[in-house]
Order: sequence, then structure tokens, then C-alpha cells
Amino acid sequence: MTPSDTAATLDAESTDPASRDLTDGFHLLIDALKLNGVETIYNVPGIPITDLGRYAQAEGLRVLSFRHEQSAGYAAAAAGFLTKKPGICMTVSAPGFLNGLTALAHATTNCWPMILISGSSEREVVDLQQGDYEEMDQLAIARPHCKAAYRILHARDIGVGVARAIRSALTGRPGGVYLDIPGALLGQVMDEAEGAASLIKVVDPAPAHFPGPDAVARAVEVLQGAKKPLIILGKGAAYAQADETVKRLVETLGFPYLPMSMAKGLLPDTHPLCASAARSMVLKEADCVFLIGARLNWLLGHGKGKQWGEPGSKTFVQIDIEPKEIDSNQPIAAPLVGDIESCCTALLDAIGDDWQKPSEDWTGGVSTKVKGNVEKMSSQLRNNSNPMNYYAALGVLKKAIADRPDTILANEGANALDMTRSIVDIHKPRKRIDVGTWGIMGVGMGNAIAAAVETGCPVLAVEGDSAFGFCGMEVETICRYNLPICIVVMNNNGIYRGDDVNKSGGSDPAPTVFVPDARYDRMMEAFGGHGVHATTPDELGRAVEEALSSGRPTLINAVIDPKAGKESGNIGSLNPQSVVAKMREQAKIGAA
Ligand code: ADP
Ligand code: MG
Repeated sequence: MTPSDTAATLDAESTDPASRDLTDGFHLLIDALKLNGVETIYNVPGIPITDLGRYAQAEGLRVLSFRHEQSAGYAAAAAGFLTKKPGICMTVSAPGFLNGLTALAHATTNCWPMILISGSSEREVVDLQQGDYEEMDQLAIARPHCKAAYRILHARDIGVGVARAIRSALTGRPGGVYLDIPGALLGQVMDEAEGAASLIKVVDPAPAHFPGPDAVARAVEVLQGAKKPLIILGKGAAYAQADETVKRLVETLGFPYLPMSMAKGLLPDTHPLCASAARSMVLKEADCVFLIGARLNWLLGHGKGKQWGEPGSKTFVQIDIEPKEIDSNQPIAAPLVGDIESCCTALLDAIGDDWQKPSEDWTGGVSTKVKGNVEKMSSQLRNNSNPMNYYAALGVLKKAIADRPDTILANEGANALDMTRSIVDIHKPRKRIDVGTWGIMGVGMGNAIAAAVETGCPVLAVEGDSAFGFCGMEVETICRYNLPICIVVMNNNGIYRGDDVNKSGGSDPAPTVFVPDARYDRMMEAFGGHGVHATTPDELGRAVEEALSSGRPTLINAVIDPKAGKESGNIGSLNPQSVVAKMREQAKIGAA
């Protein structure tokens, strides 16, 4: 008799682990996850996974239920980034699956390990398109959006399926994996001992990957030849948890460095070699750029254009685990393919005592520029404008994080994102989590919840009012699990700004404008959390201090000037409108 022959939905009593010598799909899946060190599941219950969550909780896993699958998925993706283990999200079939899929694609795009386990409807009916409950060929739909996708049809294959999912998520460049679980699988039974023997504990899913000695020697030669070198640290370097080695390498080389958004804090933003406040200068003037776990994608202007100075003026060195990343945008003179820890260690071993740090002309020039810009900024942060602008509010939040450097900063929005990233220093690794490579809005609450759950650290979530709207209902989740999260909604009454007008003269508000003076703080109060309405930097500072020290779920509605903020934040140039405006301008010049 095969396990599938015995497919049956078992009642709760017969699946009680104490009274069975049979096991079932539910318990095999839970046992397989536990065997591989999974401790937390982020999910939204419903058919066919409701009991899976109940049993998982009964078996000692932490099961967090969200109000929307997208937030559960974003939490799992963030958990992957923070822990270097796949975050697990569980969804119901078709609509729930599709809601979770955005997060799976986001994890894959960010190179973070995550597994989306989704229930699905009856295969035979789905495949003949006979109109099943929530009918959808989920496996086919998931495949192009993730690193790997598998379906398990037999209880005896659950061990293999979970092992494949974990290894696929973690090995090489990490990413999202889809695991399709037809409802019927969960109800299959099989002999308990055989079931236990079918499970696989994955050994060494992300093996160390060393670069060859020739590649290391080449890189040392290029780096030593540079007159104005620059390091760019990316979130791959933060993910790698090679913190001490990366720090030692940066300090040994003596190169100024720029941290990408989520690599902030890998070395403290206040480190003497940190060039963030001289970003334009170093990108333009550097002659050699050493990328460590960072891609030359749109976030770095593909390594070309005005911000990068004279075309052809740069030589690139790059560490990446993914061989195909090399040369994807610019020629890489010295590629180091391997994991960050192994590559940095190999470089440190190869750098002799005769290593020459770059000249004081370069590093001194950079630090003078940094000091000047930091001073200029700090006077802007001390303003007491009424209503508050972003600088006034963020000056207060910058101090809060400096006072409590273990706090994790979750951040999303347009201006609320760009300004926070450049103003609020991060002092320790993996203490900042945001919208990632896609610039997704709505990741804030999932990120904040995962950060609190996975690390136990307090979380400060700085949210644009628009971004918060995508995931705001998760304040109930935060209150339900009593998580130490303080949300600050930068409320300027709209998307980008709150003062746009309807140019037709009609009574509808402009497309980017929200209800003016909304009281987001009352949403938090509705679920028993603490709400604060803050109109001055002093009120904001006091409320944040109280929230972070008490650990009580708090939402602060920070009233920001509706005129503060610019269209699309720092990426206005990506708006097609800016291209149209440029063409019109050129046409005018041509006609004149
Ligand atoms: P950022 O947006 O911060 O610049 P990216 O997401 O563009 O960072 O780049 C991260 C890079 O890091 C990816 O190309 C990925 O392949 C790489 N990466 C991820 N984990 C590791 C690791 N352990 N070792 C080396 N490279 C890694
Ligand atoms: Mg806004």
C-alpha cells in the first residue's frame, strides 16, 4: 500500500503524536522543517493550511499569523536576510499564493533565502481545468519568479522536497524557493518509523567557496596599483555575516568605503573611512572601485553616467558568490568569485606587510569633504520649523538610534526613505532593513515584525504615510504578539507631498493626496497599543525614547509639512515625466 493510497483527512485525535504509530503529511512536513532548524513560520491561515499552523504551534514552532500574505512573505524574506537561514512563509492556495508570490520574487531579487510553502487545490481537477476551489497551476506561475520551485505529491517525498528547498534557497547566490503542497498531501498517512527515516537533515547547504590563488593575486595587484581606491559594501556583505573579516579587510587596505543602504553599520557609519557624506566626490574621482557583495545595478547607475566621472576612468574589482554577476554592467578587471568570508580571508592572507595604503592626498581629501558635509547637515537637523520638516524629525531619530545602537531601523517611503537613509547613522551590522532592490512599498511592517521576532531587539520603523498604507493593518499583528516596535509615520498628507491640487478644478483630491491631518496613531490605539500625535521634534523625541525603553507597541503620527518632500524622492529622474520635460526644453531651444 502506498501512502497516497491511504490519503485521508485525519481528525485531530488520530493525529495526536502521542497516540500514533502512523504519521501524516502535516507532521512529516513539520518534522522536516524542525529537523532543519526552522523555528518560525510566517503565515495567514486558511484552506488547506489552517491545521498545519495549529500542529506546527503544538510541536513547538513559533507560528505568527498576519493579516495579509504579502506582509507574512516580506517578514519571511527579511528573516532570511537577518539570519542567513531561509525564512518560511505559508499561504493558502491561489489568491493567498499570489499575495505571497510578490514577497518570494522580492526575496529572490534581493538574493535572500526564503521558502514560500503554499497549499494548492486538487491536482487532478486543476490539471484538467475543471474549476476546482481556488484553481491555479501555482507551480508553473511561481517558477519564473524564484530560484527553484518544487511540488511534493507523496508523503514519503516530503523529506526530499524540504531538503531540496532549503539547499536551493541557501546555496550559491541565495534566493526564494517555492514549495507546492496540494491539500491532499497533508492528509496522507504512512508508517511513522518509515516516515522518520525518509527525512533529510541538510548538511552544509552553503559550502565555503574560495577564489583561486591566481584570482586573488590579480585582485591584490589591481588594488595596490590604485591611486584613489574606493570600496562599495553591499547587502550581500551584510548578509554573509563575515563582519569581523570585512572590517579587518577595509581597515587593512585603508580605502574609503561607501555602504549601500543595508550594508550601513557593517562598519559604523561614523568610521573614519566611511565616505557616505562625500558620496558624489568619491564616485566621481575614484580610479578603482572594489565591490564587495554589491551589484552594479540601477542603484549604482550601472557604474556609468555623470555621477561616475569620466567614462573609462575606473577599474573594477568585485567579490560575488554568483559568477554570472561579473561583467554584467561594467568590465571587471579582477573578479573574485566566492563567498565574502572566504574571499576577504584569502585577500588578507595575500596582502603582505609591504602593503601601501592610499596616499593621504586621497584619504585626507575625502575625510575633509566628509567633515564639511556632516557639519552642514547637523545645523540643518537642529531646526525647529513648524510644522516639522524631514530634517527636524530625523535629527531626533538619528539621536535615538545613536543612543540605542542595537535598535533595528526598518524604513520605507520615498522622501521618508531617502532622507532617513542619508541622515540616520547605523552603528552595527544588519541594523537597517528597507525596500531592497525593487524599492517596494509595503515591506515596512513585515520587515519590522521579522526584525523583532528574529533578533529580540527593539525596532524603530520609519514609514512614509503612503508606504505605511500598504501594510498598516499589521499594527494589529504587532499588538497581538506584543512586539517591541515603535512606528513613526512621517505624515505629510500624501505621496511625495501633500499639497498637490486637482488641475481639472473638480472636487476629487489630486491623485497623490490623502485625507489631510489623518490620525494614524489612533489605528494603534484601536488594538491596545500606544498612539502619540507629535507635532514638534521635542514631542517626537520623547515619544520615541519612551517607546524604545518600554518596548510597548507604539505608533507616532509625526506631523510633517505637506510642502516638504520632492516628487519621487531621490529617483525623480526615473519618472517618464522628467524625460518629457527634457525633450520639451530641447525642442524650445531648437526652435529659438
Ligand atoms: P546592494 O543593493 O546593497 O548593492 P546587491 O543586492 O545589489 O546589494 O548585491 C548583493 C550581492 O551579494 C549579490 O550579487 C549576491 O550574489 C552577493 N552575495 C550574497 N551573498 C553572498 C555571499 N555570502 N558571498 C558573496 N557574495 C554574496
Ligand atoms: Mg507622504
